[in-house]
Amino acid sequence: MRRGENNGVVPTYTDLMNDDSRLAAARRLDAEDPLAPYRLLFEGHDDDAITAYLDGNSLGRPLSATIGRLTAFVRDQWGGRLIRGWDEDWLQLPQQVGDRIGRITLGAGPGQCVVADSTSVLLYKVIRAALALRPERSEIVIERDNFPTDRFIVEGIAADRGLSVRWVEADHDAGPTPEGVSRVLSRDTAVVVLSHVAYRSAHIADMEAITRQVHDAGALIVWDLSHSVGSVPVHLDACGADFAVGCSYKYLNGGPGAPAWAYVAQRHQTDLSQPIQGWLGSADPFGMGSGYQPAEGIRRMVSGTPPILGMLALQDMLDVLEDAGMDAVRAKSVRLTSFAVDTVEELMGSYGVTIASPRDPDQRGSHLTIDHPEFRTMLSDLWNDGVIPDFRNPDGLRLGLSPLSTSFEETFIGIRAIAEKLQANLLD
Ligand SMILES: *Cc1c(COP(=O)(O)O)cnc(C)c1O
Repeated sequence: MRRGENNGVVPTYTDLMNDDSRLAAARRLDAEDPLAPYRLLFEGHDDDAITAYLDGNSLGRPLSATIGRLTAFVRDQWGGRLIRGWDEDWLQLPQQVGDRIGRITLGAGPGQCVVADSTSVLLYKVIRAALALRPERSEIVIERDNFPTDRFIVEGIAADRGLSVRWVEADHDAGPTPEGVSRVLSRDTAVVVLSHVAYRSAHIADMEAITRQVHDAGALIVWDLSHSVGSVPVHLDACGADFAVGCSYKYLNGGPGAPAWAYVAQRHQTDLSQPIQGWLGSADPFGMGSGYQPAEGIRRMVSGTPPILGMLALQDMLDVLEDAGMDAVRAKSVRLTSFAVDTVEELMGSYGVTIASPRDPDQRGSHLTIDHPEFRTMLSDLWNDGVIPDFRNPDGLRLGLSPLSTSFEETFIGIRAIAEKLQANLLD
């Protein structure tokens, strides 16, 4: 039916299923992988109905330990301590867990990270807080291809505050570069909002160089680390970053709807004001007084009652990341995506599939986007077969390779299944 669509080249049938050499290579890489045993800690790693989970960058698998943690919490903490739990432990959890995220994954010293809200809401609060530190300036800079919520939040704030949005242009298979950012910076720039790892291409932005540029222009930077935290090590303090936010349900495996975290550099905290002044970010929540006085430090980023249940699973992942070490996690991630690039080229290169992620592993996060017009129609069949990537417009399959829960064999099996389905569609 679609014969000839592939630039007039009709692919010939290849017996992908019986080509064992790449499968053997994948198994060898697993055997040599020092982090391979961690995969056994994840729930569902041996589930025969899921042959390849390639979406840990969107929703990480649960750790088996989380079942015990959730059960024990309901029984002993919620059930046993009841309202006393707030005073005993729970009220401190947003900062305690924030500090651990900062130390283990972000290169952030204590007192600068807090868990609260969703990424979208924290973006709003943090961008407004940054703008309040640059009241004389009128522009927010953001990348054209940034994740939708980041763009929508920025556009909403700009409309609200009478500010303009300046757009950084970037190729869809790359991301923001220092050159692209420098083109739009000016004396009017108040705040720059960028993703460190691009959600589509996985391109890694040069955090150090861009942060320096933004500061040289007298502006402040907000980094969205949703696709970095837990997979690509960052060094927020060393880079002199101002603000950052990120999810905890992707590579921090916090589970569906787990809350986000925010980072505010110590030097900005004294004068910090954020727009959702709630009682639990006030200096004396239980004084029930009149008039809002912000709490000292990062605590003032909190608005309402912290999502304690939502912070449980990610603590298990922090234990595991601490044990494995972020540098080892990153090394495995690079090996996985490099293996995936080679496998895609070998099995699908002749069908016109292109790689819409950076070739240079130093510029690539932990997922890979591959493009073909046929992919849009294939996703539901793949999901039904237990091969689970996701789809991103216009025609990209996104293969998320979560370093601790994804094996090389699983990566191979997933890519082979995609190649087979594509071949069948094209020869149909
Ligand atoms: C996943 C993601 C988000 C998610 O925002 P939520 O409010 O948690 O839904 C935001 N920004 C980026 C860059 C993301 O990748």
